[in-house]
Amino acid sequence: MKSATAARTGTATTNEPAIVFDRVGVSYGRGRKAAVALADFTLRVAVGETVALLGPSGSGKSTALKALAGFVRPTSGAVRLAGRDVTDLSPAARGIGVVVQSYALFPHMSVHGNVAFGLKSHRVPRDEIGARVTEALEMVGMAGFAQRLPRELSGGQQQRVAIARALAIRPAVLLLDEPLAALDAQLRQAMLGELQELRKALPDTAMLYVTHDQAEALALADRIAVMRDSRLVDIDTAENLWQRPPTDFTAAFLGGANLVPCTVNHVTGTAALVTAGTATLRAQAPQPGVGLADWAPDDSALLCIRPHTITLGKTGERDALCATVLTSVWRGASTRVELAVDGLPGDLAVDVPGHFTTEVGAVVGVRLPDPAGVLIPNAVDGGRRRGATGAGAGREEDAS
Ligand code: ADP
Ligand code: MG
Repeated sequence: MKSATAARTGTATTNEPAIVFDRVGVSYGRGRKAAVALADFTLRVAVGETVALLGPSGSGKSTALKALAGFVRPTSGAVRLAGRDVTDLSPAARGIGVVVQSYALFPHMSVHGNVAFGLKSHRVPRDEIGARVTEALEMVGMAGFAQRLPRELSGGQQQRVAIARALAIRPAVLLLDEPLAALDAQLRQAMLGELQELRKALPDTAMLYVTHDQAEALALADRIAVMRDSRLVDIDTAENLWQRPPTDFTAAFLGGANLVPCTVNHVTGTAALVTAGTATLRAQAPQPGVGLADWAPDDSALLCIRPHTITLGKTGERDALCATVLTSVWRGASTRVELAVDGLPGDLAVDVPGHFTTEVGAVVGVRLPDPAGVLIPNAVDGGRRRGATGAGAGREEDAS
């Protein structure tokens, strides 16, 4: 998408976060039929920051976005934009740009008409509308399609128009709800690149990007907020969540992980020695942080070992553990092999580059990296350890 110079009018003059969710709760239905869709949700997004809401289907991502856009009314808590409480404002009065998965274009209106529609409802003067529509369409590379109808466009082009329509009002806040979910894999990859460009072109725009796809979150977000069961589980930079996941849920959801139960023997700084089954392994022990306990001998923990860090070879090689192949599935660029490893509790998933051909039941040698992985508090056992929390909306700083 082309860079826009004129896309910003209201420059940020305050230090207030662009977006604040302050302990927002949303329930659908009333009385005994009420279902909690969002619970105690607190999040701040800075001016110009992109935060991804990442979580499985039904975890409350869209509900959070709708509460901010004004499409659902919070049952409790407040939402603020640039310091202003907008909880009781109509969607139009909030001046937010919203893009949804289904594009939601008006089928009987041209591309130009669709983009102009939002401007009219925002009472942009008539003589400015043409230029504003062109500017927005240029940003998404669709200026040559202004007279087409939505049905005369591909899915990717329709989504570009939907993005242009959201951008035309020059919003300080842009919300995107699974905008690429309806596109095929190849187009999704191309659009991801374009959204990255768009972010650069809009350095003052705060974005909230809802997705269940970790690849999109990793590609686009400054920070990732991981959601589960109506709650915020973890929030941090993609790098931190990947390198030292605070919870087993985030470890598994972001990147996939083997979570091997272990007991801490010894800790020096950020290095630990642990026992997993009958194996003694070195592990990274992340520094105590918000909501994370320090590590002590006899703590039970989970050792997060990423499948791509494990290598397979022959049995009897130095440091190799003996393992039996349970399943082997070729995925194109790599092969996912599930193993039962002698002496280790549970099965181990390994991603071997290329097409790894082996018989189920074959015995292979397994080499874990050194250190083998990173320690994660064991939520099942979490109550025993000081400050060890499996999850909690309190993880995000209290909203001011
Ligand atoms: P996500 O976007 O993460 O898939 P949603 O926010 O759409 O999740 O939904 C969260 C929960 O709220 C789900 O259990 C869903 O079934 C429920 N829910 C969503 N919208 C409604 C609605 N309009 N009425 C009743 N329940 C709803
Ligand atoms: Mg959703």
